[in-house]
Amino acid sequence: MEEEATRKLQKPKNEVIDTDSLAMSALPEDANAAPGFMRMTFNQIGSEASVASGTAVPLGLIIRPLAPFGMAEEKVGLVNGQTTSGVMRCSKCRAYVNPFMRFTDNGHKVVCNFCGNVDPVPTEYFCGLDADGRRYDVAERPELRCGSVEFIAPAEFTNRHPQGPIYLFVLDVSFYAVSSNLLPMWVEAIREVLAGLPQDPRIQIGFVTYDKTVHFWHTKSGSAMLRMTVAHQLDGVAVPTPSGIMTNLVEQRETVNTILQTIAETHATDPVGEACVGAAMEAASSVLQATGGKLMLFQASIPTVGPGKGKPRDEVRLYGTDKEKTLYQPQDPFWRRLGMACVQRLVACDIFCYAQKPLELPSVSIVSKLTGGQIYFNNQAKPEDKQTLIMNLRRNMSRNQGWEAVMRVRCSENLSISDYYGNFSMQNDTDMDIVSLDCDKAMAVQFKYEGKLPKYVSFQVALLYTNMNGERRIRVHTQCLTTTSQLSNVFRGADVDAIVNFSLRQSLQACLTSTVQSARDALIKRCVNTLHVYRKSCATSSSLAQLILPESLKLLPLYTLGLLKTNLLRKASEVRSDERAFLMAAFNSMPIKMVMKYVFPTLLPLHNMEPECGLIGEGNEICLPTQISASSEQLDGTGLYLLDTGMSLYIWVGRHCPPDMLLDVFGCMFDDISSQLPVLNTELNQKINAVTTQVQNMGGYWRPCEVMKQRHPGESKVYAHLIEDKSAPGYNMSYVEFLCHVHSQIQAKMR
Ligand SMILES: [Zn+2]
Repeated sequence: MEEEATRKLQKPKNEVIDTDSLAMSALPEDANAAPGFMRMTFNQIGSEASVASGTAVPLGLIIRPLAPFGMAEEKVGLVNGQTTSGVMRCSKCRAYVNPFMRFTDNGHKVVCNFCGNVDPVPTEYFCGLDADGRRYDVAERPELRCGSVEFIAPAEFTNRHPQGPIYLFVLDVSFYAVSSNLLPMWVEAIREVLAGLPQDPRIQIGFVTYDKTVHFWHTKSGSAMLRMTVAHQLDGVAVPTPSGIMTNLVEQRETVNTILQTIAETHATDPVGEACVGAAMEAASSVLQATGGKLMLFQASIPTVGPGKGKPRDEVRLYGTDKEKTLYQPQDPFWRRLGMACVQRLVACDIFCYAQKPLELPSVSIVSKLTGGQIYFNNQAKPEDKQTLIMNLRRNMSRNQGWEAVMRVRCSENLSISDYYGNFSMQNDTDMDIVSLDCDKAMAVQFKYEGKLPKYVSFQVALLYTNMNGERRIRVHTQCLTTTSQLSNVFRGADVDAIVNFSLRQSLQACLTSTVQSARDALIKRCVNTLHVYRKSCATSSSLAQLILPESLKLLPLYTLGLLKTNLLRKASEVRSDERAFLMAAFNSMPIKMVMKYVFPTLLPLHNMEPECGLIGEGNEICLPTQISASSEQLDGTGLYLLDTGMSLYIWVGRHCPPDMLLDVFGCMFDDISSQLPVLNTELNQKINAVTTQVQNMGGYWRPCEVMKQRHPGESKVYAHLIEDKSAPGYNMSYVEFLCHVHSQIQAKMR
């Protein structure tokens, strides 16, 4: 599914060996961490600030430390025990041992590839060297061969006994959640997902509900007795002991089901119109304060009473003013305080929200952002969205994740980290504290130059975390790249996907500190500047009439246009602040591959697939048809297409599809096709279902698939994502027009 983690980086070439010689030629293929784990904006790095700044793109690193299982995971070698004093590290800069550290003096000394410091090799780690300077034990030591390894953490890295999975569900039972039938849908979905969880005896489940008061649901161990207590005082809710609230799922599955059923029944009638969201979250985080765990908030109403209460924002009046940025910030300092309290208590917060009316998500979302959580945003409250909730909740609770994580990035001397991007908190200048980190999350850092770089530079990500089995681990990813003094080489090594991911994160910052409009202007300016400096310094043709793009960045204008057409960067007034708060949180932690789906929606033709498509192929995955450009010109009235926008999935059906194909796929004629893709016993239908399921399972959000008929109501939803068209909302230019616009801006700068 996630082939990106297996794509090989170019191994640095063994060019002129200088005093920093690393004997690159002797290193195995996977000495560098796979790009699925860490990816730089450039694979060859400018040797000086003046060279690097010549690209007008920052030197940045996108990190997805827990990239999915499968091929990538196999490349993480486990290292069990090292030296008596712990894992071997440089005594000066504390970098972890890696394939680029060099052993000298017959194996008695080790030279750090980050700071050049020379340390004696501890006696128990000593090994002799062969004629090429390699240790004889390389084959037995993954940390000397693999760019990605995991160490069993020494005891000093464990502050307390690692906890198992703990989930406290916090459910809105106020008027809107009940009257729109959301509550029974949530309850059924939670029950179904809990029933399918593995029989892990460590899983603890608990429930808190809220309307104008907070309700705690107690059980008595070993009995079916159930009790609800109500906290009427909202400031500083008196919290009962967690032992009565948290229930062992495996031992008391029936009790958990009874609680869920009772919650739905108790609140089915006479719902209360007020919602104390802040008090409920505060109380829930107090319940978990001794153990940590996950707070799963289900929200359908704006916080109206208690701490953090807010009112709908006057969005229209603020757009375009210097107060626009306040629209995306919490209304009350309570929310940031609550977020930091959750960080202290090791409580992560995921939010499932249903926003038919304003929810004040810019406030509530900060708790999720500070703790590394995830937000699931539903624009409308549709009870039939149960399947989407089940799929998302299941993935949320079963994907690979870590707890109590601390991450640090190290780089060679003369580089330093100038900025951090992602959903986490920092209590010092170097460590990212991430209460809960999963395989779908990525962070980024930006580097700045402090001086001239040597021939090779190294980057290392060290993540200390508790894994799914409750084991404390240190996962270390290392990459070593070559530097160059030639600007043209830097351009050649540009990674456009990483640059787009980084650029999106810069745009998020701009929205939070300025206006959406200025974020859009800055984005276009960055694209023009980069292509202009290339034109000026590297292009051989002198004709100004031609738009010249470096090979590695030829898609930069297309992706820039795609970014401009995402809901995040559409005109401020076209997107509600709740949705934008969600997108800001989501994009801030999204890995490269998922971002690309939003920036460049995937259009797959289904009517003329190659024979192997829809069948299991290499890597045990379903073969997908080849992607075509996201343009309405591609939609043929005699064809069928799948469009994946990252947030939604559509099958577009042309009016003139051959009747026998329609019968094969839908079992009926054009006029009778419904919005759901049926499951039929025909080859084409099964292949299309297989392709659709494969696409649905890719990425951090599961999306239902909606069938759209050509020239039928709602079809515009498809066109809105064909970013190469002029008609796609958000930025009134087609791809061709945008290229012309970029070209004319470059010409203006050249004159
Ligand atoms: Zn060092």
